[in-house]
Amino acid sequence: MPPSAHRPPAPPARVGASVEQVAAAASLFWVLSANPTFFRAALNGRLLAEPSTWAFAVGLALLLFGLHFLLLLVLANRWTVKPVVSLLLVAGAAGTWFTQAYGVFLDPTMLRNVLRTDPAEARELWSWALLAHLALYAGLPIALLWRLRIEHRPWGRAALRRGAALGLTLLLLLGLLLAMYQPLASLMRNHRELRYLVTPANLVWSTGAVLARDARGAARPRQPLGTDATLGPDAGTRPRVLVLVVGETARAANWGLSGYARQTTPGLAQREVLNFPHVTACGTNTETSLPCMFAPVGRRDYDEARIRGSESLLHLLSRAGVQVHWRDNQSGCKGVCDGLPQDTVAALNPPGLCDAGRCLDEGLLAGLDERLARVARQGGTHVWVLHMLGNHGPSYFRRYPPAFARYQPACRDDDLRRCSTEQIANAYDNALLYTDHVLASLLATLQAHAAQVDSSMLYVSDHGESLGEKGLFLHGVPYAIAPDEQTQVPMVMWWSAGWPARGALDTACLASRAAQPVTHDHLFHTVLGLLDVRTQVHEPAWDLTRGCRSDAAGAPGKAAS
Ligand SMILES: [Zn+2]
Repeated sequence: MPPSAHRPPAPPARVGASVEQVAAAASLFWVLSANPTFFRAALNGRLLAEPSTWAFAVGLALLLFGLHFLLLLVLANRWTVKPVVSLLLVAGAAGTWFTQAYGVFLDPTMLRNVLRTDPAEARELWSWALLAHLALYAGLPIALLWRLRIEHRPWGRAALRRGAALGLTLLLLLGLLLAMYQPLASLMRNHRELRYLVTPANLVWSTGAVLARDARGAARPRQPLGTDATLGPDAGTRPRVLVLVVGETARAANWGLSGYARQTTPGLAQREVLNFPHVTACGTNTETSLPCMFAPVGRRDYDEARIRGSESLLHLLSRAGVQVHWRDNQSGCKGVCDGLPQDTVAALNPPGLCDAGRCLDEGLLAGLDERLARVARQGGTHVWVLHMLGNHGPSYFRRYPPAFARYQPACRDDDLRRCSTEQIANAYDNALLYTDHVLASLLATLQAHAAQVDSSMLYVSDHGESLGEKGLFLHGVPYAIAPDEQTQVPMVMWWSAGWPARGALDTACLASRAAQPVTHDHLFHTVLGLLDVRTQVHEPAWDLTRGCRSDAAGAPGKAAS
């Protein structure tokens, strides 16, 4: 009897694979599983019956394969291949899910949003459907991957093999680009945004772009803005407060004051407010819009690096002697209020309004009476920014207390796909009703102190939202191709009786201006106009009060009769 017969049975040998084989398998897996939205968009308008369509589809598939294979050949070696592929499997599966569910593009601005998502936001995006998707498209392949034994080769042979694989892949990509040049070039010229659908390469690219931009930005201090800014002569006469309310995800299409079929703004409709029905946002997400709204040049000559590298309107106001304060009920001020007085509703924790770090927007008004009474005693010019949670999706139903659940049935699921578009619109409109209530309460409080403190309010949303139109949900579609639902936003102004008197503001003149198109680009210069701040960077052409003030230095004044 051979001696081996007495040994216990050997454990089954783990299947071995080379780094290149793992990279090829992962790349193939992503081509087949992670890119349905890319293929649908790239083949849009082509006929399935045409052989050229199939040839183009195969070419695109090979291109996607080559790209991912190349990426892994660069990033992966014997020690890193499992963690790198695992990470990309999870990120890719999550990216695919959100792209398919909501039609989002994972470009650098969207990635910046994702990377700055706070735990409360992440909790709301979570769903059982997402978990199942992750288990199938990330969990399962990761389990298989970690059972593999990565083959060890002598250094020289491994390098040779890697070099050959890299060379062949580059040749394949080059050949494909040459063969497909015509249709590919026209596709990319007309739909540049398609490259942000190539999953998971889009995540690697966008993350790299964000990190590179931040590294460049962090290396130098913010450029000073309007160092010559001073307040006009009437600043010392009576105390005054301008409240800037930055709305979230409110869209013009559902704004009662702007003609929506439902009266979603009953509180504001009862007050004498000036509504601006044609306002275009600077961006389609908070990360773009917020810094842009507080910059002197926004969308008309958009330069993200310049905006992020410069001080904001609030720094300028502070230097001119305005007492600035930012109160946040969302994801922070994105650098706009760096170094300036600020607080958060979550930290204030007003009774009955917060739950697990998320607060209803009424918390923004906490202590408002006391603050106004203090201004009445101490005087001065104040600008208070209130950053709302507003209609932050997808969980619109979490944005309002039960008293505002007027439109029914309303979607009560964090996963929008489990609701009808009617239910989604109902929840969205209920959230708008609550925003209206918060704004009307704010105006009532300002009005109550109007005898002592002149006050004005300017509300404007940061961007809009898609509620299923064209198959899109949420927001963040690249600006150049964004639908009106995402770029048209509500804007409202109000002032106490003393405000126009002191600035000789002709309110009828301003009302006629409100009917014309307005953009976020107007905000910076209009705030300077409203407060009569004098500086070289004030551009009267972008000041909505231009021609409506008789005292304005630099602005061609039309006397208020
Ligand atoms: Zn936003």
